Amino acid sequence: MARSVLVVSTFEAGFQPLASACAAGGLLAAAPDVEVSAWDSHLFPDDRPDGHFSLCLLACQQYEGLQRSMDVLPTLVRMADAVVVFGQYAQFNAQAFLNEGADWVLFDEPERCATQLAAIARGDNDVAGLPGGPATDCRKKGLPSGRLRHSPPARNLFPDIVLYPSNTGPEGLMGNIELSRGCHSHCTYCSVFGAYNGSISLMDGDSVFNDVLYLADLGIRHFVFVDAEFFSSRRAGVQMLERIVRAVGPVTFEMTTRVDHVLGYPEQMRRLTELGLTRVTTALEFPSDRILRILNKGVTVVDVEARIKASHNLGVQLVPTFIPFTPWVEYDELLRFEDWLVATGLASTTHPTSLQTKLLLFKGSPLLKSPHMADVPLAEKRFSYDWHHADERVENLWQDRRDQAEMVGAVRCCVKC
Ligand code: SF4
Repeated sequence: MARSVLVVSTFEAGFQPLASACAAGGLLAAAPDVEVSAWDSHLFPDDRPDGHFSLCLLACQQYEGLQRSMDVLPTLVRMADAVVVFGQYAQFNAQAFLNEGADWVLFDEPERCATQLAAIARGDNDVAGLPGGPATDCRKKGLPSGRLRHSPPARNLFPDIVLYPSNTGPEGLMGNIELSRGCHSHCTYCSVFGAYNGSISLMDGDSVFNDVLYLADLGIRHFVFVDAEFFSSRRAGVQMLERIVRAVGPVTFEMTTRVDHVLGYPEQMRRLTELGLTRVTTALEFPSDRILRILNKGVTVVDVEARIKASHNLGVQLVPTFIPFTPWVEYDELLRFEDWLVATGLASTTHPTSLQTKLLLFKGSPLLKSPHMADVPLAEKRFSYDWHHADERVENLWQDRRDQAEMVGAVRCCVKC
């Protein structure tokens, strides 16, 4: 019997697919007798491996990968004895994946289930032993917390990192690395909260470090932490950077964090700046206390403005992301928004796409249960709900801004949404 697993990526924001490479690395470590292959079906559709597999693991991490995952699923069902789908948008759309032929939707990190997945590949076990499937209670609880034991991501199974558009930036070739999954915060519109419900899983430090050494051997000296929240552990990030700098020498890096952590972790921020921190991406959403409260951001506009000043004082570039178009924004607030960007010094680091972003009400969004949604008319689509602002001027402004911005590419607060 074949003992082979195919790991398939559908979208990881243009980066070499780290989540899929981690799943493959975990399997290789847990089961050296199982052959593991990989396919980036999004950027390299013609590289589909030949043959039949005992198990296929399909990654559906982001909203943009959802339709692609559905599109490739029938092919994978023909190519494998069993298809298991993982990732936060797989969980939000579990029933749709099962209806389309997937055998199971995993409600855990594949690395944590590597031994069970290998047993399925050997024919010793059935998918029904895995966490998840059609059980709705898994969705309510969120994913389990805890440290993940895994080997470094099997990047060698995917095309060379130089072929991935998001792995090249102003600093040259960049390595996408990850210290943790999940987030302790409960921002109501966020897919990470929707999937993890406040839990986090810390990656195994040695595995992350060995991955960095692999990337450094390729000449990479700028690293992008793709964690949804860099400070999910107060110490792990600083410790990892100190270890990297000791082994590799000077590096630069960037990360994503809540804006209040810029002042909330002053010691760590100062040390991270010494270690090479150049850029911090942070989701600010909109400068309105009313909207920040509805989104449960846990900050006020005054807090946000103080943190912006603090990051300027640290010499770190703050890259904000926004969701200006929500059902609760007022037309006049939108007209004042660009003045606020100028006044806070954020105009030059705000991507034009951020000016036209409209709230995405994906299926599984915690916001759908919010009392603030009670008066918002919704139209159901396959994976999300369309909403319409009560003030037609807001809708028209969104359309104008979208037309202006659509040629400049996408921007995201992190690669998790
Ligand atoms: S928006 Fe950021 S801080 Fe808030 S829950 Fe999501 S990942 Fe965490």
